[in-house]
Amino acid sequence: MIHNGTGGTTEIFCLSPDEREQAREALWNECKKQAVECGMCALAETRTNVVFGEGDRRSGLMLIGEAPGEMEDTTGRPFVGKAGQLLTQILASVGIDRGDVYIANVVKCRPPGNRTPLPEEEAACDKFLQTQILLIKPSIIVLLGMTPTKWILKTTEGITKLRGRWFDWRGISVMPMFHPSYLLRYAGDKKPGGPKHLSWLDIQEVKKKWDLTREQRLGGESDYD
Ligand code: SF4
Repeated sequence: MIHNGTGGTTEIFCLSPDEREQAREALWNECKKQAVECGMCALAETRTNVVFGEGDRRSGLMLIGEAPGEMEDTTGRPFVGKAGQLLTQILASVGIDRGDVYIANVVKCRPPGNRTPLPEEEAACDKFLQTQILLIKPSIIVLLGMTPTKWILKTTEGITKLRGRWFDWRGISVMPMFHPSYLLRYAGDKKPGGPKHLSWLDIQEVKKKWDLTREQRLGGESDYD
């Protein structure tokens, strides 16, 4: 329900598409404001910037990584360091411009020394990620590496077994992929079956499904509105 300013409330399903869009935008801005001011875990003490996320919220494709690194902490933008540059190349290899998708992380502040986020930090930050997913309503989510895969799919299986497979999560098609920083450690390895080759196969599958879902969204079956 939304307060209508006259002391009563308006059911959200009674709102016009424009009003729904305004309500969605207001919730998004409030979520971002709370994240920027957040001090709910210890990472607030060492961060330079909160890295909320960036990209096109209407495209239906969302990528979720682990946490900001040094460059991301400095700039306040996700995936802008070496791993981010590789991610941009991976997306471009199948014709996806990174500005056309939404990119976020499980935790919004950099863990010192780029360590893996602690479970309590992931739990504290979860409300921001869940709100982002709720408001973006993606058709597809790509989970980059083990941290978002474990957090979203609640699995203990390794990324090597999970990558390249589609999972249904709350009606959203979800695919785990290797994290680009893992691929950087295998810089020279492009042989068939190697991590880079597998990631190239995975992103092609993502592109195929994204093309299909975009047709549906453009054909009036949008789940955004
Ligand atoms: S990591 Fe998330 S929960 Fe922790 S301070 Fe940053 S925004 Fe808040």
